[in-house]
Amino acid sequence: MYLQTYKAVGRRYTPGVRTQAIFFDLDNTLYPRSSGVWTAARARIEEYMHARLGIPRGRVPELRDELLATYGTTLQGLMAHYQVDADDYLLFVHDLPIEEMLRPNARLSRMLAGLPQQKWVFTNASLEHARRVLVALGVSQYFNGILDIKAMGLRNKPQPEPYQLALESAGLPAAACLFADDLGHNLEPAKRLGARTALVGSREPHPAADYSLAAIEDLLQTIPGLVE
Ligand SMILES: [Mg+2]
Repeated sequence: MYLQTYKAVGRRYTPGVRTQAIFFDLDNTLYPRSSGVWTAARARIEEYMHARLGIPRGRVPELRDELLATYGTTLQGLMAHYQVDADDYLLFVHDLPIEEMLRPNARLSRMLAGLPQQKWVFTNASLEHARRVLVALGVSQYFNGILDIKAMGLRNKPQPEPYQLALESAGLPAAACLFADDLGHNLEPAKRLGARTALVGSREPHPAADYSLAAIEDLLQTIPGLVE
């Protein structure tokens, strides 16, 4: 398995605390949409489609939106319709000046340090991108591991397989897990399995979300029972 484990932090079972593991989406969840990282990644995806695949620039945005809507990630769609090498694609689209866009987040760091749960990154992006983001935010040390697109066997959220991988990685039933994501449709499979769910980046209610948070740093004060 293509799994990066930092160290066994927070693996102890905390009596009286229902949630024993938290799965954090990465992009637009551990950092805000306003950072510009995702906008920059989208531009790299569009550049890939033009430069590597020869798709006319004018057709790229519409095709990208179509593939994203149909396959869950642009990569899945490109693999289905073009001869795309996943490694080449992931290296190209994540070639971003992350360190210029993200700074260490002391508030996030304090919150993660205080959460006794296992903490995992659960992302449709690549391991290398996830590592860079965690380092830039100054929070790598709090995570048990990163479940990236390759760990998922290139079957991205919201397909069902990644959620099974998440539960197996934590060694816990869904009822003992919390999933946080900025996309409501990525919470739906988790909710169906019986996990707790938090939508991040919007206070708007969502049918698949038990909680809606403006920012990830609000997790601890918004969701009851995460600490004893
Ligand atoms: Mg996201």
